[in-house]
Amino acid sequence: MIDTHAHIETTFCDDVEIAGLEAVILSGANLKTSKNNLFLAEKYPRLKAAVGIHPQEIDDDINLLEELVKNDNSIAIGECGLEFVDEIREADNFEELAAKQKDYFRKQIELARKYKKPLIIHARKAMDETIHILSEYEGIKGVIHCYSGGKKRVKKVLDLPSEWMFGFDGNLTYEPGLEEVLKEIPRDRILAETDSPLLTPEPYRGKRNMPAYVKYVYKKIADVWGESLEKTEKILDDNAKRLFGI
Ligand SMILES: [Zn+2]
Repeated sequence: MIDTHAHIETTFCDDVEIAGLEAVILSGANLKTSKNNLFLAEKYPRLKAAVGIHPQEIDDDINLLEELVKNDNSIAIGECGLEFVDEIREADNFEELAAKQKDYFRKQIELARKYKKPLIIHARKAMDETIHILSEYEGIKGVIHCYSGGKKRVKKVLDLPSEWMFGFDGNLTYEPGLEEVLKEIPRDRILAETDSPLLTPEPYRGKRNMPAYVKYVYKKIADVWGESLEKTEKILDDNAKRLFGI
């Protein structure tokens, strides 16, 4: 099994946190965590590093990201995208913040094109704006991490010029609405993620999440598909390997 989206801290304990997993993709939220991902990937072969700047981390200098993208251990760019939660939408300087988020997002899309790396997209309360930006680019690919666009936007994402995957996390184990969304998406477009240390699946909801718990996301997807765990595992692992080239 592969956890395609995790944030790992410096207190990392490999034999517990990634027990039984073939690989874990570490998402970068800012320059510091991106550098830490590269360091961890160098040290632990099962960890793979993404580097990127999250839309809530736009005080970091975007011009310093390219150096990290060029690193041999970087396999993807992200997470990057847009986050327009109420707190941001209602801010006095929303226009300015939105423009800066979009600028950072586009610059990371350009890096993905230049270096031919997949993107890990963070879109929170900004799915329409995200789809709009992605529709302007060809020759990119990636995942809409922790997809929250509902059933109504699935087709819009599938109709985008490049191939996009949909990431599902531990909240699938306790949000019935997400099961309905999952059913709308072709099986070869689904990835399992944890977003550790957040979004802990049942039966550990309320506790700290870790990549090893991605197995509960796999199990839930198998349930919703009405498929064996073995076959589900093969499909999800193949999807992750195809997108990230691991
Ligand atoms: Zn994340």
